[in-house]
Amino acid sequence: MAKRDFYEVLGVSKTCTEAEMKVAFRKAAMQWHPDRNPGNMEAEVQFKEINEAYQTLSDGQKRAAYDRYGHAAFEQGGGGNDGFASSMADIFDDLFGDVMGRRGNRNGPARGSDLRYNMEISLEEAFTGKLASLTLPASVTCEACDGTGAKSGAKPRVCPTCGGHGRVRAQQGFFAIERTCPQCHGRGEMIDDPCQACGGSGRVTKERTLSVNIPAGVEDGTRIRLSGEGEAGSRGGPAGDLYIFVSTKPHPFFQRDGADLFCRVPISMVQAALGGEVSVHTIDGSEAKVKITEGTQSGRQFKLKNKGMPVLRSREVGDLYIQATVETPQNLTKRQRELLMEFDAESSNKTHPESSGFFARMKDFFENLSGQ
Ligand SMILES: [Zn+2]
Ligand SMILES: [Zn+2]
Repeated sequence: MAKRDFYEVLGVSKTCTEAEMKVAFRKAAMQWHPDRNPGNMEAEVQFKEINEAYQTLSDGQKRAAYDRYGHAAFEQGGGGNDGFASSMADIFDDLFGDVMGRRGNRNGPARGSDLRYNMEISLEEAFTGKLASLTLPASVTCEACDGTGAKSGAKPRVCPTCGGHGRVRAQQGFFAIERTCPQCHGRGEMIDDPCQACGGSGRVTKERTLSVNIPAGVEDGTRIRLSGEGEAGSRGGPAGDLYIFVSTKPHPFFQRDGADLFCRVPISMVQAALGGEVSVHTIDGSEAKVKITEGTQSGRQFKLKNKGMPVLRSREVGDLYIQATVETPQNLTKRQRELLMEFDAESSNKTHPESSGFFARMKDFFENLSGQ
């Protein structure tokens, strides 16, 4: 059987835009979706054709190849159908999401939802890593009734209203419509004596505890995925995933930038001028001595190598930068005041190379500008 032209299948022109094509595909796929045409072989064939056409034409490269060579572009010894099912599902999920995606799942296995857990840790914990224990609510099979929803010993009986189908048909004018059985709510069974532990639902909410290893060097915003630890699936479907979003609390002394840490340390004017030594704590809790060199200005940084944060999944370690902030003395005594005045009398452009002559230089600069 000759293959139909892909543009024709989608009902679009050869020059249509991607958006136009998407709209056309959506419309056609809705019309021929097997869920809407149960048992209709022709619909199934159409639906496959539509998907194949869209899959090709929505990909810029494939579309160009198809425009040039037609179907021959994709004929490789009759194969090439591998992966079709999965990519078809991808396209479908992408386009329809809630509209139809769930409909087909109503009676089949359904994957459980993903769960998100926000965890706040301290910078120290991010430094060492930690084994955290989380308590999560989880819906599990009721042990008292083994999931049947009936009190132990009692057996559910077939729903008399729907005969166990879970759905009933009703005639409305010319139409026969099918809806969920109002008596058993679609279960197809009746429980005369419901289990008290679960109220007849067969499932109970229990807390479960998980141990999670938070690796050293974890950063603010790191996401840890625990596959299969999300909500339980239903009807034998797989469980969803659990995502742990890690955030770190602000630290009173350290700021973090990647693997490096910064710590502002106030030093006295005298220490800054004469030099000296200060003792600081590092993130691992130990003490480190920092040599303040003579004539240190505010903002100068002293690096403590390898005293920063570990880099996630590596053996590298960042550095700790001590940022000196010179504190100007306040609340001077009379004697201190006199000493400083005496000191100032002996100051020169050697003791204060930055500030002496600064205002004169600034004045010159602007006078020259206006003089030009
Ligand atoms: Zn129960
Ligand atoms: Zn029923």
